[in-house]
Amino acid sequence: MTKPFIIAGPCAAETRDQVLLTARLLARLGVSVFRAGVWKPRTEPGAFEGVGNNALDWLREAQQETGMSAATEVATPEHVRAALLHNITTLWMGARTTTNPFLVQQIADTLQAEIAAGHVTTSQLLILIKNPVSPDLRLWKGAIERIRRAGVTRIMAVHRGFQTGQPTSYRNAPVWSVPFALKLQFPDIPLILDPSHLTGKASLVPDLSAQAMSLGYTGLMIEVHPDPAHAMSDNQQQLSPDELTALLAGLTTRQESTDSGLSGLRQQLDETDDTLFFLLLRRMQISRQIGVFKREHNLPVLQEKRYAEVLSRRLAWARENNLDEDAVRRIMDAIHEESCRWQL
Ligand code: PEP
Ligand code: MN
Repeated sequence: MTKPFIIAGPCAAETRDQVLLTARLLARLGVSVFRAGVWKPRTEPGAFEGVGNNALDWLREAQQETGMSAATEVATPEHVRAALLHNITTLWMGARTTTNPFLVQQIADTLQAEIAAGHVTTSQLLILIKNPVSPDLRLWKGAIERIRRAGVTRIMAVHRGFQTGQPTSYRNAPVWSVPFALKLQFPDIPLILDPSHLTGKASLVPDLSAQAMSLGYTGLMIEVHPDPAHAMSDNQQQLSPDELTALLAGLTTRQESTDSGLSGLRQQLDETDDTLFFLLLRRMQISRQIGVFKREHNLPVLQEKRYAEVLSRRLAWARENNLDEDAVRRIMDAIHEESCRWQL
């Protein structure tokens, strides 16, 4: 069974001791890439913004001593040049950067120029591209394509969750459909889950990591700090090295399937989908008739009281049948939205 590709390390490089101590512990756990932010994008001014260039020396030292590759976040051409100058050739693009095509293009152009100048080779470079802040598949794809067109051959996509404006029990909502669609369109780009930024909470990281393995993700990017409670950034979500040890020990990966044993169940599934969508079509046709009536009687399409009743009945049904209420709400909201469209 192939081992998951593990990227781990502190949210931010804080001191030389912290970097070297953490790197030594992680190297023993079979971690492939040691992560540490040097320039931290902070939502509000005044928060800890990283140590900057000095920390690149510490990362280089950690890399030389442990044999892991060190990685840091780059958001500008200056960051890229400074990192490469320190022989840091695994770089990640943060969610806020992937959101901005101008910055992505500047980073792509800089990488292309650095390759052309012989400052780095394509086999040394590994670029990790985090998902954009909002669940916009095209922005994520666009960033991957820009970096690819610059001549970079080793790219991984990092799923760290999205801001959707909807309540979620995590710091960021997973919106699994977006990474699934990305995988479908770029089957050769490994998908990595960042359960730290997704959940925002250390206690939730192991479960989500296990889920990612079950789904077939290639690896994980996990924040680890020697003293999480006193970390200068993201202190709620970083694991201690011991916690990472326990997490990794409990992980089981799944191999690419020889899936012929599934054909019977898959046929049943396909037939169920046929029925499900036949019924959905019927539902929309009824909606269209309702739309005609509403138009003739000058009634608004959106009737929030009626929808609140429909939804609450469905959620009660979900509870009786032990279905996840959030999931049923999402499905019902999508059906209702499409239904309203048929009534226009
Ligand atoms: C990080 O990895 O430290 C980070 C800032 O991540 P994101 O871009 O996912 O918020
Ligand atoms: Mn962080």
